[in-house]
Amino acid sequence: MPDTVVAKQGSADFLELHILHHASEEQIYGLWMIEELAHHGYRVGPSHLYPKFHRLERQGYLEREDRLVEGKVRKYYRATAEGAHYLETRKRMVLELVKEAFSIAELEQVVASKKRKGRSAR
Ligand SMILES: [Zn+2]
Repeated sequence: MPDTVVAKQGSADFLELHILHHASEEQIYGLWMIEELAHHGYRVGPSHLYPKFHRLERQGYLEREDRLVEGKVRKYYRATAEGAHYLETRKRMVLELVKEAFSIAELEQVVASKKRKGRSAR
């Protein structure tokens, strides 16, 4: 059984988990995330995305660092230890659903495409 997760103010949605995933690997910022989501086929604008960064920060899952980039303040985010732990437990839950909802043939296709892309692929 996966760990039981009690979210502070409701569970993170799918987009928030995606943000946490990348923020646990490296420092990210809003525009970068918008472009990343576009690679995955999502079209998400700043007005939809930025409140999610703020919510994750309020919950203690992200920490922000303001940096001056070309005369403008850019907000960089990184997952906290708590955020990384939360992500791991939520990933297990997603995996449980994936295991149940997809056929073995579908899962094998996913594994094969991940192997083809190699480790650097997002
Ligand atoms: Zn991604």
